[in-house]
Amino acid sequence: RPGITFENVHFGYDPDREILHGLDFEIGAGETVALVGPSGAGKSTIARLLFRFYDPRAGRILIDGQDISKVTQESLRAAIGIVPQDSVLFNDTIGYNIGYGRPSHMDDADEDAIREAARGAAILPFIEMLPEGFETQVGERGLKLSGGEKQRVAIARTLLKNPPIVILDEATSALDSRTEQEILATLNRVARGRTTLAIAHRLSTIADADRILVLENGRLAEQGRHAELLRRD
Ligand code: ADP
Ligand code: ADP
Repeated sequence: RPGITFENVHFGYDPDREILHGLDFEIGAGETVALVGPSGAGKSTIARLLFRFYDPRAGRILIDGQDISKVTQESLRAAIGIVPQDSVLFNDTIGYNIGYGRPSHMDDADEDAIREAARGAAILPFIEMLPEGFETQVGERGLKLSGGEKQRVAIARTLLKNPPIVILDEATSALDSRTEQEILATLNRVARGRTTLAIAHRLSTIADADRILVLENGRLAEQGRHAELLRRD
């Protein structure tokens, strides 16, 4: 039972220019697959197609065997969580930022869940040291969080949502290398047990992937395991 399937997917933003030229690949349920390749290869486009920001020109995309053009936008959003490169925070409390999008983001029933998500994202000790805790204002007019702290808020948001599928879209590439290693350790825990697509441009940031897809100019150039690809480098 596959997690994500691309079947002969063709796509372009402009009618006269095709970006993805018949992509075929599968990510098994619970598998972590890294998608690497040079800038402009089409990696983020694949993420956008999964969210149905755009539809393929030809071919099909399936999630758990279901054509995503036939499922509702709500169930698609419930199934997929994304940790983007630069997580944007709302000018609101840190608790709201973790819980936003939930029916009632910070009522009593949710508080434990938000705390648990913050623990999973390894940002709970930081929050508990703040005088106002989860009520601390963050963003432009509040506490300025570092890049790593912002990513941990985004990770907590994803853990709270608990989606079966996670997309990491260059989730650590804006961070310094030490912070990157720390966040990667947390992301590897988040990926465990979920179908994960980790988009990256460097092999060093995807050490724990089960499999690697190399995308070049909208085509899969290679597939394999980490060690195999490194040997060929
Ligand atoms: P990657 O994520 O691998 O860097 P992208 O998927 O962002 O690559 O982009 C793939 C190609 O699509 C690039 O040539 C890029 O210029 C083009 N592209 C991306 N977004 C748009 C858009 N909104 N409109 C037109 N072309 C786009
Ligand atoms: P929701 O708010 O739908 O429960 P998330 O908190 O996981 O889900 O937010 C996912 C949303 O983030 C997507 O629906 C999309 O609008 C947005 N998003 C941010 N960055 C990206 C990206 N690189 N590719 C696709 N979607 C993105």
